[in-house]
Amino acid sequence: MKKKINAYSSILDLIGSTPLVHLNRIAEPLTGNFYAKLEAFNPGHSAKDRIASYIIEEAERKGILKPDSTIIETTSGNTGFSLAMVSIVKGYDCILAVSSKSSPDKIDMLRSMGAKVYVCPAHVSADDPRSYYEVAKRLHSEIDNSIYINQYFNELNIEAHYKTTGPEIWEQTNGQITHLVACNGTGGTISGTARYLKEKNPDIRVLGVDAYGSVLQKFHETGEFDRNEIYPYRIEGLGKNLIPSATDFNTIDKYVKVTDSESAHMARKVAKTEGIFGGYTTGAAVQALYQLDMEGEFTEESNVVVIFPDHGSRYMSKVYSNEWMENQGFFDHKNTDVAEKIEY
Ligand code: PMP
Repeated sequence: MKKKINAYSSILDLIGSTPLVHLNRIAEPLTGNFYAKLEAFNPGHSAKDRIASYIIEEAERKGILKPDSTIIETTSGNTGFSLAMVSIVKGYDCILAVSSKSSPDKIDMLRSMGAKVYVCPAHVSADDPRSYYEVAKRLHSEIDNSIYINQYFNELNIEAHYKTTGPEIWEQTNGQITHLVACNGTGGTISGTARYLKEKNPDIRVLGVDAYGSVLQKFHETGEFDRNEIYPYRIEGLGKNLIPSATDFNTIDKYVKVTDSESAHMARKVAKTEGIFGGYTTGAAVQALYQLDMEGEFTEESNVVVIFPDHGSRYMSKVYSNEWMENQGFFDHKNTDVAEKIEY
C-alpha cells in the first residue's frame, strides 16, 4: 500500500493560523503580558493574504469569477502582492494600478508574481483620468468578469478578519485576551478582529494605532473629517487621508498616534531584542504599546495581543537602511543611535 504524501495542495493552504509569540525583552519595561500575532508567517508575508484569498473566494462562491477573470486593485503594497499570489495559483489575471511613486523594487516584485502593473502618474488628483484610482475603475468597467477589490471600501475586508484572525486569537489565548492593539490602514484587520472578539467578550479593549498626518483618530473622537490633520508622513500602510468604510469605528475604544522616527527605531529594536524581523508598522505597533503603558492602559493581569502585520524584508531600503534613516533625520547624533549605526 502506498504511503500518504504529507503535502499541502497549494501555497494558499498556508494562509492564516499564524503563530502567537510571547514578547520577552521588548515588553520588559511595560506592565502586563504581551503577545505578538506574527502575520509575516502567511505565505505572502503579510496579513493581506487573508483578505486576498477571502475576497476572491467569496467572488468565486457568488459565481462572479470565471476561469479567465481579472482581479483589479490599486496598490503596490502588501495587498498587491497577496492578490498576485492568489491570482497566480487560481489562474486569474491580476492588474495592479500603482502610483509612479512606488519603488522599482516593489513593481518588479509584483511583476515577478505575474501581475500586470500599470504605473500611473503620482502628481495628478484622484479624479484625474490618469490617476491610479480612475485607471483601475476604467479597466474594471472595460474588462468582462473582472472584480475591483477596493480594499478601503470593501466590507469583505472586515469579514475576512472576523472569520479568521479574531477566532484564531480567541483560541490561542483561551479567551484570556484583555486588549487588542492593531495598526489601522484600511481598518479591516482591527475592525474584523475586534468585532469577533467583542462578541465573545465585550470588555476586551481595542486600541488602534494611527499616524501623525492621518485623519482617523480625530474622526473617531469627534466624528469630523478634519483636513488640517493631513500632512505627509513616512510609515506605509498606517493611517489615511480619507475615512475608509472598511474601518468600523464602533469596534475601536481608543486610538494612539505614533511618529515616523519612533516607529522606525522601534522596528529595529524589536529585531535586535526579540529576533523578530518585522516591517515598519511592527515598530509602530510596539511604539504604541509604550505610549499606552504610559497612559496607564494596562495592569499586571492584562493579556495584550498586538498584531505584527508584515515582514522586515520589504523595508531593507527604508527602516533597515542606515542611509535612509540618516536622510530622514532619524539619527540623533547626541544619543546612542550613533553607536547603533556603527554597530551595523
Ligand atoms: N501594516 C502594513 C504594513 C500594511 O500594509 C497594512 C495595510 N494597509 C496595515 C498595517 C494595516 O492593515 P489594515 O489595512 O487591515 O488596517
